[in-house]
Amino acid sequence: MTVAPSPATKPKPLSIPQKAMLKLGLARPIDLALHLPLRYEDETQIQRLSEVREGQSAQVEGVVTSCEVKLGGHRQLLVTLDDGTDTCTLRFFTFYPTTQKALAVGNRVRVRGEIKGGFMGLQMMHPTFKPAGGDLAVALTPIYPTSAGLPQAYLRRAVDGGLSRSELSNTIPLEFLSQISLQPRWGLREALTFLHHPAPDVPLATLEDHSHPAWQRLKAEELLAQQISQLQAKRERAKLRAPVLAVRAAPGDVAPLHEQLLAALPFGLTGAQRRVGEDIAQDLARAVPMHRLLQGDVGSGKTVVAALAAAICIDAGWQCALMAPTEILARQHFTKLLSWLEPLGIKTAWLTGSQKAKERREMLALIASGEAGLVIGTHAIIQDKVVFSKLALAIIDEQHRFGVAQRLALRSKLTIESGEGDATLLEPHLLMMTATPIPRTLAMSYYADLDVSTIDELPPGRTPIITKVVNDARRDEVIERIRFQLQEGRQIYWVCPLIEESEALDLTNATETHAELSAALPGVMVGLLHSRMPVAEKRAVMALFTSGEMGVLVSTTVIEVGVDVPNASLMVIEHSERFGLSQLHQLRGRVGRGAAASACVLLYSTGDAPRLGETARERLRAMAETNDGFEIARRDLEIRGPGEFLGSRQSGAALLRFADLALDADLLEWAKELAPVMLDQHPHLAEKHVQRWLGTKAEYLKA
Ligand code: ADP
Ligand code: MG
Repeated sequence: MTVAPSPATKPKPLSIPQKAMLKLGLARPIDLALHLPLRYEDETQIQRLSEVREGQSAQVEGVVTSCEVKLGGHRQLLVTLDDGTDTCTLRFFTFYPTTQKALAVGNRVRVRGEIKGGFMGLQMMHPTFKPAGGDLAVALTPIYPTSAGLPQAYLRRAVDGGLSRSELSNTIPLEFLSQISLQPRWGLREALTFLHHPAPDVPLATLEDHSHPAWQRLKAEELLAQQISQLQAKRERAKLRAPVLAVRAAPGDVAPLHEQLLAALPFGLTGAQRRVGEDIAQDLARAVPMHRLLQGDVGSGKTVVAALAAAICIDAGWQCALMAPTEILARQHFTKLLSWLEPLGIKTAWLTGSQKAKERREMLALIASGEAGLVIGTHAIIQDKVVFSKLALAIIDEQHRFGVAQRLALRSKLTIESGEGDATLLEPHLLMMTATPIPRTLAMSYYADLDVSTIDELPPGRTPIITKVVNDARRDEVIERIRFQLQEGRQIYWVCPLIEESEALDLTNATETHAELSAALPGVMVGLLHSRMPVAEKRAVMALFTSGEMGVLVSTTVIEVGVDVPNASLMVIEHSERFGLSQLHQLRGRVGRGAAASACVLLYSTGDAPRLGETARERLRAMAETNDGFEIARRDLEIRGPGEFLGSRQSGAALLRFADLALDADLLEWAKELAPVMLDQHPHLAEKHVQRWLGTKAEYLKA
């Protein structure tokens, strides 16, 4: 039997503004209450034209003394308003008969808009207008972020409604507020009410720079929500089970594999490498899955640390997977780890998208049977067809290049039930590596659910890289320098930028430079590498450069990650003004890996402008001033915000809206300390707090 829905229960279709609001994420009353103004307009007073300043937004009242349509050029309506102290021209490019009627000569009107100067005297473009008189506002008028189909007036009413319907009782116990000198009088409701409708006498600067106590309160609340939810995720994870990968006691006189590897290495570990290796070994020996980020500047030697972890895992009788974002990088890892681990009797398998069917079948068999202790590859590793026999450690290199989904896929490759009788599934240990150092505040916020180990020391014998910022007009001198380096037996990288709007342009740039350098350097092998080349060709080019036969490698940013050719001593980056700082730093890290003095030339082009803009110049100068990846990351965070660092990690799900990591480190510290206290002593308040702030988004944080 089917029952037709009664007309009364059929949901009403949403109106256009309602749909627009949902698109902006304004679903619950609290979402509306937290939708804060972009800026404010002052409608609480009438200003005199004789006292207004250019650029200022003003509300004035006066008599219309002329109103005419100007034809020729751009058709427009020009209205002159006189308030007795001065006159102002109102200019409309779109107007209707009603506009002319409302602004007819002799009418007294109240207009509001931004004051512009000019040789015609004061002007306003498209001011709002209404008849003079009427009440003045008692608070500043909020202007909200909005979108098409959602008028300010509608949104204002909706926000006010949301604010009054929201449950805004205090979730932060009073005693914790005083720790950051937050005044209790700025409770959440008071703060929000104020920020939506500030009193006219508030110094606007404190609203704009978010230093007002009401803002502080909101930022503190937001950071606390993020910290609590990350801590919850961490505690959830601690309940999971992982294989215990303890270093076995050596039977007889056979040393554990990782010790054999250490003994065979042509170098000793740095103190930092030993320390992070220790962190990792301890994690592996626990029955809880490791969730650790290993960060270390380019060239700091993360690979060998990963290899040691792999050796511990394999020695314990399990499998290890190492995933890298590009085929070049994966192959390089494969070559290096093979040379280290094969002599120890470890079988290594290799997986990539470009593999021949036969080879791939063989590899899949090695992985499924457990014969391959180590599996290295690109994201080909996480495809469904790849079945591990007993994966216990997953290592992800350049982790910011991968998304949450890919990480989860790798983790799900272990589906053995723990032998403890219950149905607990085992999860592999996860080690993520990155050469983009994450500034401390970022690590404390977005990455708070990770354990972080840092290699803060370069292997000995490296000479610091000298960085020069050079105008593209002096390209010839740079080529001269290349010639000299080649004579010394050195190799050179030349990187061309990725032009996002046009891959074709990107290519032209690299191809032209390749042709130019080939012509300028007769007898020298100059190679070209870009992302759209067939994989086999890329591999061949890379092999020629690695073996030293190729003197100069021109490439787009495909070499950005991880490539290691110690004999390369000069890096030229074309159009360096188009790169992000961290990216430049990564590129620069391709040189300076051997003992030879290395240099990086940042070529910049000013285009049609006579000189480079101030910010661009400052950024390049910063590159020349420091080789410290952390310092560079900090400046990058200041300049570009956290998005660049997070990559696809959180798909924007829980980006901070109010707090600013560069400015609010104190509040962040406070929130970090308070989070465990809230969860342990005030669990109900903690839950309510997180729900209020993150709602359904809290789930994303747990990935
Ligand atoms: P990254 O951290 O950028 O991945 P790599 O692991 O590629 O750096 O290491 C860079 C280079 O330094 C490699 O050639 C590596 O073999 C070498 N290396 C690593 N650790 C040491 C060390 N302790 N002493 C000397 N050389 C080292
Ligand atoms: Mg690396």
